[in-house]
Amino acid sequence: MYLAIAEYTKKQQVTLVAVSKTQSIPTIMTLYKQGQRIFGENRVQELVEKYEAMPKDIQWHLIGHLQKNKVKYIAPFVSMIHSVDSFELLEVINQQAKKNDRIIPVLLQFHIAEEETKFGLNIQEAQSLLEQIKLQSLDHIKICGVMGMASFTDDKEKVRGEFRTLKGHFDQLKSTYFSEDAGFKEISMGMSGDYEIAISEGSTMVRIGSALFG
Ligand SMILES: *Cc1c(COP(=O)(O)O)cnc(C)c1O
Repeated sequence: MYLAIAEYTKKQQVTLVAVSKTQSIPTIMTLYKQGQRIFGENRVQELVEKYEAMPKDIQWHLIGHLQKNKVKYIAPFVSMIHSVDSFELLEVINQQAKKNDRIIPVLLQFHIAEEETKFGLNIQEAQSLLEQIKLQSLDHIKICGVMGMASFTDDKEKVRGEFRTLKGHFDQLKSTYFSEDAGFKEISMGMSGDYEIAISEGSTMVRIGSALFG
């Protein structure tokens, strides 16, 4: 399935993050050999192990929940962190990025699904986080957009509505807090079961795992 999905996302001008969690290195290498260079992992330890073992032109994205005390392990190399959901976490990422003389691109994760267990901000929390950032100089992070996961359901209209909500949050934050050239442009939404809906609702970045490797 890899080539078909890679072609589809390319045609739609959407970035494909190949979610390689739980996949072995030889399996991931089969996608690498077909040209894939952006991979996503949801656990820090697995991300570090794969980074160390695999070619250095891979861009690694962290897509899962991140604890503050683990930021230091990924700060030297991570290309994007999709799962920022507190100001305190942003401060730690900034501090660790500075130590590594880097600027780390991040996304603000929103809670858009009905499931209780999912991490993420609501719009008020995101606004107050961005107000706090205005007051402090976090020079070593770049806020590039938003991320969200829709509910696990067969109800396509519900999923579509949740993606539309995330796009609405993105538009609102962009117009209030970011100039046109600030690089706030990514909407990370869409997984194996719902990426086509996500793309039709404005996704710029899909995170697909099982459909690529299955
Ligand atoms: C696992 C995971 C994905 C990919 O899920 P699939 O259904 O396998 O495509 C996307 N985003 C996050 C945050 C994940 O943990």
